[in-house]
Amino acid sequence: MQFSKELTALAAQAEAALAGRFAEIDEVAFANTGRVMDAFRANRVSDAMFQSSSGYGYNDKGRETLDCIFAGLMGTEAAFVRHTIASGTHALTIGLFGLLRPGDILYSVAGKPYDTLEEVIGISGGSGNGSLADFGISYRMTELTADGDFRTAEILETLKAEPKIKVVFIQRSKGYLNRKTLSVETIGKLIAAVRTVRNDVFVVVDNCYGEFVETREPGHVGADLLIGSLIKNPGGGMAECGAYLAGTARAVELASYRLTSVGVGTEQGATLGQNKALYKGLFYAPHTVAQALKTALFAAYVFEKLGYAVEPKWDEPRYDIIQTVQTGSAEGLCAFCRGIQKGSPVDAFVTPEPWDMPGYADRVIMAAGGFTQGSSIELSADGPLRAPFTAFFQGGLTYESGKLGILSAAAEMLTLQS
Ligand SMILES: *Cc1c(COP(=O)(O)O)cnc(C)c1O
Repeated sequence: MQFSKELTALAAQAEAALAGRFAEIDEVAFANTGRVMDAFRANRVSDAMFQSSSGYGYNDKGRETLDCIFAGLMGTEAAFVRHTIASGTHALTIGLFGLLRPGDILYSVAGKPYDTLEEVIGISGGSGNGSLADFGISYRMTELTADGDFRTAEILETLKAEPKIKVVFIQRSKGYLNRKTLSVETIGKLIAAVRTVRNDVFVVVDNCYGEFVETREPGHVGADLLIGSLIKNPGGGMAECGAYLAGTARAVELASYRLTSVGVGTEQGATLGQNKALYKGLFYAPHTVAQALKTALFAAYVFEKLGYAVEPKWDEPRYDIIQTVQTGSAEGLCAFCRGIQKGSPVDAFVTPEPWDMPGYADRVIMAAGGFTQGSSIELSADGPLRAPFTAFFQGGLTYESGKLGILSAAAEMLTLQS
């Protein structure tokens, strides 16, 4: 891959400016790797745990130990990690249906949740498909402030006025929205405030894209249930598929009855040879997340200098691996994705096109040239075709390949400008 003199100079300028930020990222990765290795040692991880189980999968030591390790790392009492959970949306569905009962209210306090949850909750789409709404569970929402903070006073008033609220739902990452990602500290402050008025609600955090970006997780600041995907941060780019739920013993137990069946919970679940990939992925995760963060910072710097609005900016704090670039037009968004695709290790020769992806209201364009289909801890970009045509991108298994991908996207955008 060859880039113009101007782009090569810009890349060098970016890396000089980012040296301090990169050092901070390395420190977090070092601390989180220490946490992972402590957990492995404390749980006596051994080769025997990588053995496969079949059938019901009773007494799968590798699976049970990984559940304990995840709980410890997420700052919670319990957890389950399963390759059989199809996606993050599936995991969130398990969690919400596990905790909510007819008549209850689901209360989203960080604005609209992720697009794919709209049909799960029953905000959009036809009724009768088995959404939460179909089961008599209603939904309320409070937007974040323009600065991206919680409207704490309003949230506390609502919690006092609506005793039927059972789940307080917080999406940590921005998802497909033009908003800021919430820090663990900010989430912790809200949880503490919620506890002053209600101790009988479950605080559920959609933790997608946030894992290992900080040295603490929302479980360390009192969340009842954290949910995330293994083809994002905590799979480290190694997990082939799957997701996790981690939380209080009761919340995890209730969710586990939705995972399998009431009474069975986490006791079943053949691992079919997946244990080693999940352990190895978790081992890599802090490092892989650091690679993705460096790639995102590099992109923030480069695209800002090229005249695009980016979020977060290169010198701002970061609480997830997502970077946005406002491309300003459908052509811009498509060019960006084309560039990322060209700069990917797999399927570099294909041209991404917008499509009607199941679960999403607008057409979506995606660039993904990863080893695992749909994995977004690998360099990937996507965005719904709606104004302001924001490209959301994330990932990069290695900073070197991420940097090449970003330069490729920049080159593609520059051909559009000229
Ligand atoms: C990725 C993501 C999800 C789940 O998405 P899947 O594609 O179903 O894995 C949910 N919430 C947020 C914020 C996400 O980023």
